[in-house]
Amino acid sequence: MTARTRITGVRVFDGEDSLPLPMDVTFDAGGIVSVTPAGSAGASAAATVVDGGGATVVDGGGATVLPGLIDAHIHLHDADTLRQLAGFGATTGLDMATWPAEKLAGLRDIAGRGGLADFRSPGLPAIGPAGPHSRFVPAEAVITGPDQAGRFVDARIAEGADYIKIVTEAPGDGGPDLPTVTALVDAAHRVGRKVIAHAATAAAFTMALDAGADMLTHIPLGRPLDPDTVRRMVAEDRIAIPTLALMEGIAFAHNSREAFAGALRSVGALHSAGAAVLAGTDANAEPGAHTQVAHGTSLHRELELLVDAGLTPTDALRAATSRTADAFDLPDRGRIRPGLRADLLLVDGDPTSTITATRCIRAVYVAGTPLRLPSTTTPERR
Ligand SMILES: [Zn+2]
Repeated sequence: MTARTRITGVRVFDGEDSLPLPMDVTFDAGGIVSVTPAGSAGASAAATVVDGGGATVVDGGGATVLPGLIDAHIHLHDADTLRQLAGFGATTGLDMATWPAEKLAGLRDIAGRGGLADFRSPGLPAIGPAGPHSRFVPAEAVITGPDQAGRFVDARIAEGADYIKIVTEAPGDGGPDLPTVTALVDAAHRVGRKVIAHAATAAAFTMALDAGADMLTHIPLGRPLDPDTVRRMVAEDRIAIPTLALMEGIAFAHNSREAFAGALRSVGALHSAGAAVLAGTDANAEPGAHTQVAHGTSLHRELELLVDAGLTPTDALRAATSRTADAFDLPDRGRIRPGLRADLLLVDGDPTSTITATRCIRAVYVAGTPLRLPSTTTPERR
């Protein structure tokens, strides 16, 4: 027996745009069944097709349904990480460093049982011998020359890595050098995996670009990216995951609003030049981290900060749905289309005009099943 749900008369942001009319959206565990104008015959037929028993009908009046949000930069800890993400409508999290492999396999198993956020992961990240991150990771992550790149990437693929993460630093700051980063990127590309480079400074941006990384995550605080870097990001089709929620936390911890204003200006410049910018938060609960970023709630903050940087609310929502699905090769999600996963977020109001409406959560569906939302997971209205 398949539990089918139909949200009626609801505004739809389909991952790309708002649909012009109120719609009926019908779905079950197998995916989205139909998206039809409210009250039309197609929707009722779709709703009564299974079990002869019809569907659970949810009145979507005054609400908007969106694809479940995708956070393009998180850190996994345990099942609670995935529960918290999903509770706030982030139905997919893209992890940027989890080890050891047994922990990752355990989390894949837990996520596969349903009712939690789904995730993808690079496993262990590659770092240089003396960078600021080297004290956090096992020796196996430390890559000191191009000759070690192939073995590192092969080991990650054997562990089931979905993509490869490299921590790049400014030359001289202890990160891997350019030949090493280039060799890692080439090895990843040879086996069809994308590369996400941690790049928190202008010089690290240049290195990641020179090496051919597909996506660059973080954004420098302080002086905005120079126009040549912005031009390269666009011309070379690179994708930015600026993690403004994290950068805001770091800047404010140092009492430097000015530094954060520079980060916002960089994101605005990238977006207006035509570079793809994705919503990622760097959500983590690392005891030793300089700034903890809460899983789930922070994605709503990230959307607001992307709007502060100059994206329209619709662009910000695309950055957490269809654009991210495209960048990370997840064609089964990020849009509301028949046949795709029924990961859905139902909110009061219209976030395509007021981005803070994403916080007003009425319901979250993971693979067609409604989550039970304890009242404590309802984000505060701002
Ligand atoms: Zn991170």
